[in-house]
Amino acid sequence: MKVGVLALQGDFDAHRRRLQELGASATLVRKPAQLDEVEALVIPGGESSTLLWHLEQHGFFHRLAEFVRARPTFGTCAGAILLASEVANPPQKSLGAMNISVERNAYGRQINSFIGGVHWTRGGDPLEAVFIRAPRITSVGEGVEVLASEGSHPVLVQQGHLMAATFHPELSADKRVHAAFLELIGP
Ligand code: GLN
Repeated sequence: MKVGVLALQGDFDAHRRRLQELGASATLVRKPAQLDEVEALVIPGGESSTLLWHLEQHGFFHRLAEFVRARPTFGTCAGAILLASEVANPPQKSLGAMNISVERNAYGRQINSFIGGVHWTRGGDPLEAVFIRAPRITSVGEGVEVLASEGSHPVLVQQGHLMAATFHPELSADKRVHAAFLELIGP
């Protein structure tokens, strides 16, 4: 099973390393045609508006929209914003693949970035979650399962073959989130 990491912008290399540490074969995806060579994809954090700009420059957007409809995909932070069906603050185009609404930069200026322990519904210790100018999932619709939350807010969700995190699991030592994605992909 080959897992791609979208490498147009943002924090892609830490994802590749983490996937490799967990025994997956991970490769960077920079061109639309490379999506044909992978069976699953991570869309990393960064700046979702910049990511969108790059996607639209290279005719990548529509190819990616098709991919995420069919294949396991994990969006983190800006990647989660891209997967959402509705984006606010400001409204922004997205892939509309997951039944979630998100608000960009929702934690305000004073706490742009922080590390928190979040409740993991699968039990065990709280997950160490690194939030960087993070979005907030403001609503979840049908078919969406909340896997982790911070206070009353979902921060890690799954809908069928899709997962989204508002934090950066590739930046903490905790490997459970990527392991859960690899489990979702299957053997
Ligand atoms: N603030 C970014 C955005 O709105 C997301 C931040 C991140 O990916 N760390 O796109």
